[in-house]
Amino acid sequence: MSCLYCSKNSPDSVAVGFLAAASGAGYTLYACPECLRSRQLLRLSEHPEESDGMHRTRVRVPRSAEGGS
Ligand SMILES: [Zn+2]
Repeated sequence: MSCLYCSKNSPDSVAVGFLAAASGAGYTLYACPECLRSRQLLRLSEHPEESDGMHRTRVRVPRSAEGGS
């Protein structure tokens, strides 16, 4: 699969997200190991349950930064 970021075709690319399509099928986004590492991407299998499928990084932006608990 070709990498989402560098478009390189790597046999070791891993799923990092998916795009939902109106038709229901959608498709999976892949990244090569280099981009996965350099961008600290989360594998799709590591996404939290509420993930909308968007590729994301390990650097989490706190959702409740306003101070609520
Ligand atoms: Zn790449």
